[in-house]
Amino acid sequence: MRIHALHHLYDQRLAQSTRPFRARGCKIVRCKHCMLTTDLCMCAFQTTVPVNPAFLMVMYDDEILKPSNTAKLIADVVEETYAWIWSRTEPNPEMVALVNDPQWQPFVVFPAEYAEPERVRETVEVPVGKRPLFILLDGTWSQAKKMFRKSDWLHPFPVLTINPDHLSRYGVRTAAKEHHLATAEVAAEVLAVAGENYAANVLACWFEVFSQHYLYGRSQKPMPEPTALTRFLALTQTEAA
Ligand SMILES: [Zn+2]
Repeated sequence: MRIHALHHLYDQRLAQSTRPFRARGCKIVRCKHCMLTTDLCMCAFQTTVPVNPAFLMVMYDDEILKPSNTAKLIADVVEETYAWIWSRTEPNPEMVALVNDPQWQPFVVFPAEYAEPERVRETVEVPVGKRPLFILLDGTWSQAKKMFRKSDWLHPFPVLTINPDHLSRYGVRTAAKEHHLATAEVAAEVLAVAGENYAANVLACWFEVFSQHYLYGRSQKPMPEPTALTRFLALTQTEAA
């Protein structure tokens, strides 16, 4: 499997913890990469799909340490995924340099109602010679709003808003808003808007595998057939054939 930015950031953030991080169910033995119970580890099936856009994950404090966090699934599928921990007063200089690099057209992915109307976009249009860089703010809903408001370095960029036509299938965390999607689901919607339909499907399916394994890792009950993994393999192996 490919070790990526989210795995590195996890190690870094864990090393900075002054106290041991106590995730819910911390006595469970988890794979350190996918964070599922080791018997349901999905790492062997990790599939990367070549796409034009890149993602930048801006993570709130210890969000990366939560086993239920889905940002790692985006980096599994989209090779060019960057990640840093958010800071209000000292944004990481490498992160700021990345978003200001002329090869990228950054889009902050956020609901339209929080942005000035002139910043809002519903389609991904990129000047010739540039590639889209989708910036996702990852934390609880109130943390994401805080990051959106208090990051001056994000303010010059357009805000891409998505209108998902389905509710979250993610039963792991209680959503603050009914239509509040998990981070990986948002990324799948964004890929679809950018015209990367196959990658969008792979990521949506990969997310379903994670959700199912996460839930069944706690319940010990058999999964309903066909499992999300069966559907994921059917999708990725058909394309490869
Ligand atoms: Zn794993």
